[in-house]
Amino acid sequence: MNIFFDVDDTIIAFNGVLRPHVREVFQRLVEDGHSIYIWSGVGLRWEVIDHNGLRPLVTDCFVKPVQNYREGLKTLGIPVEPDFCVDDHPELIRALGGEAIKAYFWVDDSDREMLRIYDVITEYARNHDGP
Ligand SMILES: [Mg+2]
Repeated sequence: MNIFFDVDDTIIAFNGVLRPHVREVFQRLVEDGHSIYIWSGVGLRWEVIDHNGLRPLVTDCFVKPVQNYREGLKTLGIPVEPDFCVDDHPELIRALGGEAIKAYFWVDDSDREMLRIYDVITEYARNHDGP
């Protein structure tokens, strides 16, 4: 599947620190045959990807629509259809599908949301013809 991850409050905290288990879960998803895309409403975020050593795991990076999501995929010229989105904004998930993740504002080493997301994606893929 083409799995799209938001950046702010999804994979990094307000201060840019990477959420626990992001790298490990990205690695497992790639090994499972999925493609990972990173997108953000505030622009291309390659610096976040590179700063955290995620580039080998990320297929591409896009600007995310912040309203009229379905229409925005076209107007922003996103060349890939998202099969599963992970975002702290539930309205995006309602429009495009996937799983809302608890917003990660503050650094919290005990946060296990990414592990939950991995399980949800795996279960979804199992019911929708795999990766
Ligand atoms: Mg966000």
